[in-house]
Formats: sequence, C-alpha cells, structure tokens
Amino acid sequence: MSLSRVAVVGGGIIGLAVARELLDRSPGLEVVVYEKEDRVAAHQTGRNSGVVHAGLYYTPGGLKARLCRRGVGLLQEFARAKQVSYQECGKIVVAKDQAELERLKDIYQRATANGVPGIQMIGPEEIAEIEPAAVGVAALHSPTTAIADFAGVAQALAEDIDAAGGEVRLSTEVRSIAEGTASSASSGHGAVRVSAGARGKPGEPGDTEHFDLVITCAGAQSDRIARGCGEDAFPKIVPFYGDYFMLSKQKAAQVNGLIYPVPDPQYPFLGVHITRRYDGEVMLGPNAFLSLGREQYSRLGLSPRDMFDVVRSPGFWKFASQNIPAAVRETRTALSKRVFVGEANKYMPGIALGEVTRGPRGIRAQAMNADGSLVDDFVITGSTRLMHVRNAPSPAATSALAIAEHIVSQALAEERAV
Ligand SMILES: Cc1cc2nc3c(=O)[nH]c(=O)nc-3n(C[C@H](O)[C@H](O)[C@H](O)COP(=O)(O)OP(=O)(O)OC[C@H]3O[C@@H](n4cnc5c(N)ncnc54)[C@H](O)[C@@H]3O)c2cc1C
Repeated sequence: MSLSRVAVVGGGIIGLAVARELLDRSPGLEVVVYEKEDRVAAHQTGRNSGVVHAGLYYTPGGLKARLCRRGVGLLQEFARAKQVSYQECGKIVVAKDQAELERLKDIYQRATANGVPGIQMIGPEEIAEIEPAAVGVAALHSPTTAIADFAGVAQALAEDIDAAGGEVRLSTEVRSIAEGTASSASSGHGAVRVSAGARGKPGEPGDTEHFDLVITCAGAQSDRIARGCGEDAFPKIVPFYGDYFMLSKQKAAQVNGLIYPVPDPQYPFLGVHITRRYDGEVMLGPNAFLSLGREQYSRLGLSPRDMFDVVRSPGFWKFASQNIPAAVRETRTALSKRVFVGEANKYMPGIALGEVTRGPRGIRAQAMNADGSLVDDFVITGSTRLMHVRNAPSPAATSALAIAEHIVSQALAEERAV
C-alpha cells in the first residue's frame, strides 16, 4: 500500500504541524486538514500561556521530556524563519520556604537530566537582580525559557501547507470516520472513509471522501473521535478551565520574564504564574477548575453533554476525592479575585486588586484514566491507517513540531511495513 491521500482532523498546532511534516517528507502527497471552526488555533492553541517550556518538570526519558527538548529547537528555528514572535525572556521558579526548596531541588535534578541549558539554583540576591519584584528563599533560573505567539505559529504552518499544495478546510466538521476493507483500498479508493460537513448542521448530509491514512489531532474532542472509530473510551477528556487576569501597564513594567511558583507535586497543573506575553502584556494565571463545557469560554456557558460525560464517570469522582485540598484552593481562586491575586502575591508581593483586570480563559483537554488518575505523558494510539493523538497537554504547543516528526515517522515506517 502506498500513501497518496491523507486527512488530518484538527487545525490546532498539532494537526497543522503533522500536515506540514507529511508534505515536507512526501512531496506530492494529497493532504487535507479538517477544522470545524472558521479559523485555525481557535481552541487550546490560541488560548494558552504562550510559554515555550524548556523541559524543567518532565520525567527524564519520557515522551514529554524528549519531544519538549527537540520541539524547542525546531520551534525556535521555525519562528525565526517565519518571523513569528519568539523571545527568550527567561523564567524563575520561586521557592518561598524550605519545604518548597526541597521540591525545587527535585525539579533541578529533572531539568539537568533532561539537558535543559543554562539552569541554575539562585539565592535571594540573584532573584532580585533577575526579577526585582519577586521574593523567595531560592529559585531555579532557566534563561532559555521563552514566550511565543502560538496562534501566529499555527497560521504560518497553515500557510506552509497551502504553499506545498495541501488544503486546510475551515468550518468543516468531521462527523464520522470508518475504516473500510482491504478491497476498498485495492479498488483505488483509500481505506478510510471520512464524512464531514458544516458545523452545527448535523442533520444535513456531509461529504464523504476516502483516504489512505487519517490522523486525528482533535484536542478536547479527541476521545469522542477515537471512540467513534472503535477505540477505548479511556483515556477520557475532562476539561479544566484556566482563567487569566491582566496586570496594569505600570505593574507589568516591573516584570521582566516569567515568574512561577513551585508546583504542587500532587497536582498536574503548574499553579498561578506571572507570564509576560509576546505582545508585551503581563498575565496572572491560569488557575485550574472543572469546566462546564469543553469549548465554553464564557463564565455562564454550559454544555449539558460535556457535563453529563464528566459526572457519570466514576474516575472523575475518584480524582475529586483524592484531590480535595487542591480542589478547595482552586475553588477559592475561581470564586474570588482577591484569592486569585493572593496566589501571585505569595511570590510577587504588592499586586493590588485595582492593578488587575479580567483576561482570557483557556480550557485544557486533560485526559483521565478509568481509575481517576490523570494521564501525564503524550499518548498516540491507533493503526497503520488511523492514528489518534489522545493526550497532548502542556507543553504540547512547545513540542508540536517534534510531536509531528514522531507521528509522521510512525506513520511512514508502518506504511513501509505493510
Ligand atoms: C490554559 C492553557 C495554558 C497552556 N499553556 C501552555 C504553554 O504555556 N505552553 C505550551 O507548550 N502549552 C500550553 N498549553 C497546552 C497547549 O495549548 C496544547 O497542548 C496544544 O495547543 C494542543 O494543540 P492541539 O492541536 O492538540 O489542540 P487544539 O489547539 O485544541 O486543536 C484541536 C482542534 O481540533 C478541532 N476539532 C475537534 N474536533 C473536530 C472535528 N470533529 N472536525 C474538525 N475539527 C475538529 C478543534 O476545533 C480544534 O481547533 C496550555 C493549554 C491551556 C488550555
């Protein structure tokens, strides 16, 4: 079997990077990217912290650690070539007491094992030199941690796809995917049938096309798409929203780069941090709280289908019962601006309530196992004809170009083996 037509589902940074990598390695291949929204990067890719993670936290040897380190180099090169904003502003992870310092030393060990360049443990005087507004007993300094315009990266990838003869079909939702028989492939049609149509018109007949290979990179919808193709229901996506607040211009001028707390080891998210953005704004956030919908960004928005999916999952209740202290803390940040800002004030004191205004919201597609444990590493499943990215949490935007290399290598190697 040789590949002539490939479909990619999802116009986020992963789907676009995969499509571009396919065209790069197999010129002449026909590649179609399906995106249900009217623009690329409409969900996680365009609604995140914009941090190019250097690889501090991840288990050495894991897919996340390896693809993050490779992804940083590829992203930096791509951003430079396409003139997309990429700034090495540096980051400090601040320990505010001895207990946090012990945990910070573990992060330092991991970062060293992951080969993160230039990292150093620093004391209060050096903290004051790098980030005069921050305070702590010690910090981990990562000078190469950067910020980037991920939506701009996605747009540049889409332009490359177009220039290489591929097609990004916006406002086109994939409704079903079905693997055919070997005879459908040998009859000249691709073996995988994709039906797609305009979003929000599920009753109307969609267009059906055949492909030799389909790769789904559907972010918050990844479990539903995979399940529709006959895969396991787990890992299941549980959406966690993250709110940001914006610092006033005057206060923002006191922040040089990125200031992070030491993360809670029991919890997968990094805690409310202070993030300089590529456009010069400075954000506080995000917190992490169960979202009432996978794509509901307004504070009152709710998707009954998404909520029902979460509450009927025994795994979710197990997760909730095992994370009560973190849940209490995050509930308080969700309910009170004062508590939210208080989290940042622990390591950057003096931020007054009047110096912050409400900013954007992002929603993380967090994969959860049946037993309620959260899936930490990137997960890619499937067969020679149908592959699914089932978990691509942070730092997947950082790692996108390396994730694409990894997926396309698998796809092309398997193709050779068929
Ligand atoms: C609050 C927050 C902060 C983060 N901070 C960082 C950070 O600082 N650094 C970092 O590296 N990572 C960060 N991340 C993670 C990063 O944003 C994601 O890992 C990454 O964007 C995942 O990309 P994706 O392409 O898989 O998903 P998405 O960007 O969500 O794209 C998936 C796309 O698939 C489309 N789709 C779904 N179903 C269908 C269908 N049936 N038909 C057609 N299209 C479909 C969707 O419309 C969507 O556009 C953060 C994430 C969040 C939410």
